Amino acid sequence: MRIFACGRGGNVTWSGMQGISTSPTYVVMQPTTLCNLDCSYCYLPFRGDDRKMPVAVAEAVAASVAPWARSGRFSVVWHGGEPLATGREHLAALIAPFGPDVEHHVQTNATLIDDAWCEFFVAHGIRVSVSVDGPRDRNTDRVTRGRRPAYDRILRGIDALRRYGIPFSALCVVARPEPGLATELYDYFLGLGCEVLGINVEELEGVNLRDNRHPAEAVTAFWAELVSAWRADPRIHLREIEWTLRYAGAVLDGTADQLLPRELDPIPTIAQDGSVVLLSPELAGFTDARYGDFTSGNVLTTPLPEILAGAAGSPWIAEFLGGVEACRARCPYFGFCGGAHAANRYFELGRFDVTETEHCRNSKIRLLEGVLDHARFNQPTAV
Ligand code: SF4
Repeated sequence: MRIFACGRGGNVTWSGMQGISTSPTYVVMQPTTLCNLDCSYCYLPFRGDDRKMPVAVAEAVAASVAPWARSGRFSVVWHGGEPLATGREHLAALIAPFGPDVEHHVQTNATLIDDAWCEFFVAHGIRVSVSVDGPRDRNTDRVTRGRRPAYDRILRGIDALRRYGIPFSALCVVARPEPGLATELYDYFLGLGCEVLGINVEELEGVNLRDNRHPAEAVTAFWAELVSAWRADPRIHLREIEWTLRYAGAVLDGTADQLLPRELDPIPTIAQDGSVVLLSPELAGFTDARYGDFTSGNVLTTPLPEILAGAAGSPWIAEFLGGVEACRARCPYFGFCGGAHAANRYFELGRFDVTETEHCRNSKIRLLEGVLDHARFNQPTAV
């Protein structure tokens, strides 16, 4: 069986990712626009402003998500700005309206984590994911507002998590994927003690306009090397590699078409003021002459299910769904990728009905090729 198959004309007709689901599995909440760091690659437009989410916004979201949380696993991801810059008291007030069925997650730069925050995480059952890009020298893009390195503060926060025995995930941005780097990074995260690791190749989006074109061979070799490093000591759940191996296994046993969700998860992002941007949190806060401000409504005036029910009527979302169908028809990687993210199309190419982007080359196509290269070049030797 071919590991790839085009949507039409190949040996599999991919049936996933058709339209947008009206039942999300998580929402992203922006408790504040503010971030205490000023990382060079950050996409957020208002990270210097301190605009906090009113409790009324959280109450409206909590009322809408309660039925979804009762019928299955449902997460609220607190993502800023820097969510801990909201302050414990206000963040507690925002969490309070949500019922016990909701899982809370926080994506943090870790610099503000101290004993009091650790006690807060434990008391509220919050799952923590920290952003750190590897050893000290790999974190030069992570700086304070005074342009000083943030690495020592990040490590102090992670040390506090370890002291309290709080399990944590890590998110690592890779600015330049190349051979030699993957082993260094994986060894670092093994030492750090995270349970789950996500690797994001830096993306050109939002206010980050840095070039994200890289030589194909270097990116593929980076991913292949990461598989080798992980297989040598697979103690960490390595998000991208485990998903890719799952896909490859499903192709081999003929179940690959069942792997993608049937519909796109709408990923509602609730901005600090209650406005809702669907599909790509990175679009929140931007406006465009053709597409307007990308919002689909505001939870202070319209319940979230109603906003989701009308989602496909939004011109930019309709255009994106056309782009997903173009991917299904043309791209041999669709069954693995599912059409990737709306924001990458917009920020790289200025519209949504296009297909290939540098992001999908770096993080989908070359990821799959890297895992396959690893398999090809690490065959057991015949005896
Ligand atoms: S986003 Fe890129 S890799 Fe994904 S299906 Fe579309 S063209 Fe293929």
